[in-house]
Amino acid sequence: MAKLYSKECPCCGETFQTTRIDKIYKNSLHQRSYNNNKQANKRKLLDRLNKPINATYKIYKEMLGNKMSTRIPREFLKGKGANLRYFSHVTSIDGVPTNMLFDIAIIPEGTIINLRKIK
Ligand SMILES: [Zn+2]
Repeated sequence: MAKLYSKECPCCGETFQTTRIDKIYKNSLHQRSYNNNKQANKRKLLDRLNKPINATYKIYKEMLGNKMSTRIPREFLKGKGANLRYFSHVTSIDGVPTNMLFDIAIIPEGTIINLRKIK
């Protein structure tokens, strides 16, 4: 008789017996459930970051319209729901490190934010 291994399923913590030492999950349903949960948790984590970033970008684009740049009061942008602390990267504009949200430069000028589209 083949040797039986006692394993603990990562999805539910249930103990099961198997003759295969490399078996991880109780069965394929448990494996699928575990992987689906793992992916859903990753997605939730990314959504928490992406949602405010995408919302802020949408507001900036709306403010810019067809213009290459626009100056908007900081408080007005906040009122619209923009989160001014979010940016995707920093780039050098005229030698000054500037926060960017994708293709839009966020240039603070006191109480005003100068939004500038960068090609
Ligand atoms: Zn399980």
